[in-house]
Amino acid sequence: MAERLIQLGARPPIVSQLCHLTRKQSIEFFKAVQGQSPKQGMLPHDHQWAIRSAFNNIHASLFLNMIEDIRYRLYTPSLNATLLVTAYEIYSNVASRILANRQYTQPRSSQHYPLDINRAWYLASLLSAGDLVFILCERCRARYLGMIHPDATFSQCPICDVWTDRSGRRRWVSAKSKKLTLNKPSAR
Ligand SMILES: [Zn+2]
Repeated sequence: MAERLIQLGARPPIVSQLCHLTRKQSIEFFKAVQGQSPKQGMLPHDHQWAIRSAFNNIHASLFLNMIEDIRYRLYTPSLNATLLVTAYEIYSNVASRILANRQYTQPRSSQHYPLDINRAWYLASLLSAGDLVFILCERCRARYLGMIHPDATFSQCPICDVWTDRSGRRRWVSAKSKKLTLNKPSAR
């Protein structure tokens, strides 16, 4: 399972935590699987990533819906390696089709999905902590992510509450009216 996590791009601290390995073991394992040293620096920690754009929200919602559905079917209360790997593999299959439909020309390696496995792991922890919540859109019936957090309360559907700008980017409609208070990523 540790090998699969690393192949999907997971960094050593996450592998250590999910596979009960020491930090040193995870780093050695990473080097053996990837043939290079792991990237240094902090793991993803932007708790507002899922609401920064409708595009992010769709990808985060897709992945966390997978996590929730699998968790429900398998009666798995907490996030473990099997759950993360299974949900991420399904997510990346679906994401590659969405990106192909958008004629997205980047290579289809996991590093190029909007949601990499390290951020996926962090989003799953936000969902467990209750910072991210699922909301059912009454218009399109999509189950998307909203946020309840002291810094940001946000609940807009990434399919219905958007408009498309000239470059084809989907942008949130009237974000300010929905009490959105985004901090710049660099502020955290
Ligand atoms: Zn909707």
